[in-house]
Amino acid sequence: MTTRRHFMMQLTAGSSILLAGQSLAQTPKLNENDPQANALGYKANNAMVDAKKYPAHAAGQACKNCQLYQGVATDVMGSCPLYSGKQVAGAGWCSAYSKKV
Ligand code: SF4
Repeated sequence: MTTRRHFMMQLTAGSSILLAGQSLAQTPKLNENDPQANALGYKANNAMVDAKKYPAHAAGQACKNCQLYQGVATDVMGSCPLYSGKQVAGAGWCSAYSKKV
C-alpha cells in the first residue's frame, strides 16, 4: 500500500532526476564571442584557430583530447571547467589546451 508520504518521496526523487536531465540538455554552447572564450582564442572548430596568433596550436589538438574536457572523446559537446555553465565542442580548441595523457 502506498502511503501519501511514500508517494511524495517518489515524486521528489523523480522530479530531481528530471531536473538533472533537463539542466544537462539545456546547458548552452560556449559562444566564441564570449569575453573569456575570445581572450583564450576559443574556436568551436579547431581548424579555424588563427595560426599566427596561436602558433602553439597543432593539428589534432581538440577539446576532446584535452585534459580539461569533461566528456569522452566521442562526445560532440562537453563541459570544461574554464567555462562554467557552458558546453565546449569536442572539435573545439582554446589556448589553455593541455594534451590528455
Ligand atoms: Fe577545450 Fe581544453 Fe580549452 Fe577547455 S581548456 S576549451 S577542453 S582546449
